[in-house]
Amino acid sequence: MSGVPQQDPQKTFYLETFGCQMNVHDSEKVVGTLVQQGYRQVETVEQADLILYNTCSIRDKAEQKVFHRLADYKKLQAQGKKFGVLGCVAQQEGEKIFERAPHVSLVCGSASYQNLPGMLVQLENAQVESAQVEGKSSKSSFGRIDSHPSKTTKGGASSFVDDAPISIPAEESGSRKPDAGSLVRITGLDDRQTDKCFETEFTARTNPHRAYITIIEGCDKFCAYCVVPFTRGKERSRTSASVLAEARQIVDLGYSEIQLLGQNVNSYRDPDGKKSFAELLAAVGEVAGIKRVRFTTSHPRDFGRDIVCAIDAVPTLCDHVHLPVQSGSTRVLDAMQRLYTRERYLERIAWMKAAKREISITTDVIVGFPGETEEDFAETLNLLDEVGYDAIFTFKYSPRPNTPALQLEDALPEEEKSRRLEVLMAKQRDIQIARYKKYVGTAVEVMVEGYNEQRAQWIGRTTQNKTLNFTAPETASPKVGSYAQVLVTRSFPNSLAGEWISAAAHPVV
Ligand code: SAM
Ligand code: SF4
Repeated sequence: MSGVPQQDPQKTFYLETFGCQMNVHDSEKVVGTLVQQGYRQVETVEQADLILYNTCSIRDKAEQKVFHRLADYKKLQAQGKKFGVLGCVAQQEGEKIFERAPHVSLVCGSASYQNLPGMLVQLENAQVESAQVEGKSSKSSFGRIDSHPSKTTKGGASSFVDDAPISIPAEESGSRKPDAGSLVRITGLDDRQTDKCFETEFTARTNPHRAYITIIEGCDKFCAYCVVPFTRGKERSRTSASVLAEARQIVDLGYSEIQLLGQNVNSYRDPDGKKSFAELLAAVGEVAGIKRVRFTTSHPRDFGRDIVCAIDAVPTLCDHVHLPVQSGSTRVLDAMQRLYTRERYLERIAWMKAAKREISITTDVIVGFPGETEEDFAETLNLLDEVGYDAIFTFKYSPRPNTPALQLEDALPEEEKSRRLEVLMAKQRDIQIARYKKYVGTAVEVMVEGYNEQRAQWIGRTTQNKTLNFTAPETASPKVGSYAQVLVTRSFPNSLAGEWISAAAHPVV
């Protein structure tokens, strides 16, 4: 078929993704880029020549997982496999990764993904070069290639091989002669300098029913606990024209649900000055063939009433807003440098509650931030009652490198953080039991996302982002990606269950 890149059967890669939806979507773009470069994606590390991890460093646990994974598969280096670390841990740890995991050849933060094609070529060429020089001198086999913008020539990353070997921990270097090509080191580390977004026409969309579009990358908020501004660079928005063009392409591919992504979508600033975030949201919702538009994540500071007005005006915009609060205490919010008070947050909740449609509200909460007292925590608990969230994502505070909160004393013992987390989750469970119950007996539209063989149930998602599993007669056999009307017959703390009524009235793309 024309337009499909020739695939070299020798060039295979395996990619594992950790972390948030932004990472999941970045991986779709990375996969597309690799396929375009002639690589073939495989299902297991054993089958792959190049093993990539797209990493998350939001909490220490997430970061450690990556190093465990690298250690688990280190033995495969002897088979000539190459390892690459992408994403937030790559940006945060940079060349230190080579010290901790000397079998890694490629370290690339998300702000440098633009340079990936060039870096892949460098990796392939350097392997050959290394193998060639290996025979002459073991010293020169320590190749280092850097794609930092300060060393970038116009039109792509420059390539230089540094004569000075990178230090290898004693236990790794020993007297063993390094494998040819194994110590090639390629870095793409861009620390808050890039103005570019990772736009590629080669996105490999792996979610069969929801297409993601990044509208803004990076973050300028610098919340006291958060590594994102350090790992994902400064805020940079795509033009509304390019977002809308991608939305139209997505419809042509057969998708009817789009999720707009950004660490802070409400900070969106159209470089062409044509559309605000709310206007862009409405325009995407009006693209012919679109049935559902979601967006995440919203920051309360920039969440304007115009977003609620857009939801009111454009029926395809989903009845769901994820608005992370982090704490119910203004004192803690101030220490977190969140730039809003509890009252200001609640004002935004009031706008949503006054909307024409019932908007489902979800949030993120951190417990055990330095200095959080029992009274502060009690304020978070009563905020849950006051708002009535449909879901919350809960985190124990995890100290992160470079963040301002590191200067604060993290005095709360781990057990106390765990206790608060449990209390919070138990309270939310009760709230959800009561909230989900009220849907029993109602008819709700779902998008069909799959089928659970074990339970003999279809998996549906409501516009409010609730899971609604349902049974259907064999004659109905709903298709994944289609829409159906379902009668809710039971409720659980995290989901609903029901029975198929009919295919949705709307034509399905
Ligand atoms: N941009 C979003 C916002 O402003 O809320 C959040 C993005 S962050 C990837 C997702 C969530 O991770 C945050 O909302 C926060 O609850 C949690 N998180 C971030 N840093 C954390 C830390 N150091 N410890 C615990 N949780 C953290
Ligand atoms: Fe992190 Fe705050 Fe930026 Fe969200 S807004 S990504 S929590 S710094």
